[in-house]
Amino acid sequence: MAGSEGKLVRSKSGLRIVALNEGMQSPLLLAEPPWVPDKECPQCLSCTVKFDFLHRRHHCRRCGRCFCGSCSNNNIVLHRMCFVDPVRHCKDCVPISMKENEFYEKQLKTLTNGCSFYVSTEEELLDNKTFPLFLCKLSQDHRFLYLDPQGPEGKDQMPVALFRVDSTAILGASTDSQGNRVATGMQFNYRDELGTQCVMRLMAPDSGAKRAGMAWVAAMQKAMKMIMDQREK
Ligand SMILES: [Zn+2]
Ligand SMILES: [Zn+2]
Repeated sequence: MAGSEGKLVRSKSGLRIVALNEGMQSPLLLAEPPWVPDKECPQCLSCTVKFDFLHRRHHCRRCGRCFCGSCSNNNIVLHRMCFVDPVRHCKDCVPISMKENEFYEKQLKTLTNGCSFYVSTEEELLDNKTFPLFLCKLSQDHRFLYLDPQGPEGKDQMPVALFRVDSTAILGASTDSQGNRVATGMQFNYRDELGTQCVMRLMAPDSGAKRAGMAWVAAMQKAMKMIMDQREK
């Protein structure tokens, strides 16, 4: 969703709530696809029935392609386009939106609630060095990663702008009792507002909080994948 500062707009696909200022939009948002023109699709893309006054043409709101009513009769919430109501989906797009909706309904809260990590901004990680603990959380508009110091040794950190993250990596230094490598944190490679390349490493504490840390990392990985996939288009 667009956060608290939203306005209602009507597009041909339905009613949407978007950020007041376009620059403040969540980086998770997807643009509405252009609709395939009627003359380019004489028949349903799925069952190939010819469109006529009995078989009306409908557009999938997610991909913009043409289908008959029965091949596009799923109305599903499409968080990433900010529609107020569930919208028409073709069969191909249903599972994609369902998966994203699971993220919006469960994991997004994990990210905005935040989780404690040791934080390092150094290029090289030295063993046995201790790093200050921060509460790391995604901002309500999903644009920034905030880092609140949890102890006296933590200095204020500038938030990381997710739109300036070039890549992320999962840190996997430890091994569990079965000998599997276990993710221990996440690294962000990003540019600060001056364009300088920076590194931010979040490392889960080796304690009961580790599971929570890993759930947070899994959610953040999903968010970053959505953001990166969107950029490639
Ligand atoms: Zn059809
Ligand atoms: Zn579709």
